[in-house]
Amino acid sequence: MSDCLFCKIIAGEIPSTKVYEDDNTYAFRDINPMAKTHVLVVPKQHIPSVGEIENVPDDVLAACLRTCRRVAECEGILQSGFRVISNCGKDACQSVQHLHFHVLGGQQLSENMA
Ligand code: AMP
Repeated sequence: MSDCLFCKIIAGEIPSTKVYEDDNTYAFRDINPMAKTHVLVVPKQHIPSVGEIENVPDDVLAACLRTCRRVAECEGILQSGFRVISNCGKDACQSVQHLHFHVLGGQQLSENMA
């Protein structure tokens, strides 16, 4: 999608710090990290949010979660633990309308998820 920030990052039109990439997904460091490790995992296909995945192929969705795990492995936090979050819509404060998963870790995270 031409005016989507994350589509531009995936296309290399806007710089990012890549952590991992495969056929279906791209992972890069969040520009405003909320934890010692904060990586964003996005599908290469433009999907606005979790709220609009009804017709998205299962392999694309599975690839996103698998990439979250791979990121945790690459970042050395697979054993210590990590959190995967996807904000969807206004009440969740989603600010970029391209499906993404925050992978957070590298430190003790808060029990408070709200
Ligand atoms: P959300 O609020 O869940 O939609 O998350 C969007 C995330 O994208 C935020 O954590 C931002 O810090 C992050 N972000 C915005 N622009 C960039 C960028 N150019 N490179 C990396 N991360 C970004």
